[in-house]
Amino acid sequence: MKDITKSLIDNAFASGVDFIGITDPSCFEKKDYTGNRPQDVMPDLKSVVILGVAVPKGSFNTLPEGRAEYTNTLLAATATLRIVAYRLARLIESKGYMATISPSEGSEFGYWYADRRTLKANFSFKYAAYHAGLGNFGMNHLLITEDFGPKVRMTALLTDAPLESGTAELPFINQECKNCMKCIEICPAKALTSEGTIHRERCAEYMFNELGGLRCGLCIKICPLENIKQ
Ligand code: SF4
Ligand code: SF4
Repeated sequence: MKDITKSLIDNAFASGVDFIGITDPSCFEKKDYTGNRPQDVMPDLKSVVILGVAVPKGSFNTLPEGRAEYTNTLLAATATLRIVAYRLARLIESKGYMATISPSEGSEFGYWYADRRTLKANFSFKYAAYHAGLGNFGMNHLLITEDFGPKVRMTALLTDAPLESGTAELPFINQECKNCMKCIEICPAKALTSEGTIHRERCAEYMFNELGGLRCGLCIKICPLENIKQ
């Protein structure tokens, strides 16, 4: 399986992604995980592949006035990732396995696409990325990557190919957060808490009722983390 894994990683970087990680889906059986499980989408699931790109900084610098530009830039990042994921899905299937592409939160399908009752996706890309060794969580409830902090966009492939997976090596919550908490202070919806949890409904209601469906992004803009060695 090392050959397929290497081929996937090489293809992903050649196609323009900034990071890629692979998770063993057994992480979704852990007690600390409270979201939906990708195994409920693909019962034969063996690997979750996370792909990510950095989001251009100009889209954050121009917030909050540039919300339309920010939202459009996020969708462009999602579209870029979707094309790469499609190529990788075809590559996996050329090796005799199955693959499907999970929708990102904030895609044109709608922000809370999967589960309207809990406002949760089909599974947490961020939790998968953490277990793939791609970063850890910030108080803004987002993945903090080493190179780009939370200013990233991700998508995921589900496959029955038993790929070589990464491991989580960092503490679950980023250690820089305890001396910062800026994202909690700036959140206009009071959706973030000092315990690292999020009131999803407050964030969703703010973006849909106040912003007409445009994204907010202030908890990402304010975050000072990037180019960090943890
Ligand atoms: S803004 Fe501060 S507290 Fe929030 S995620 Fe970034 S470093 Fe952590
Ligand atoms: S996107 Fe905006 S409303 Fe939602 S948690 Fe971040 S700062 Fe708060």
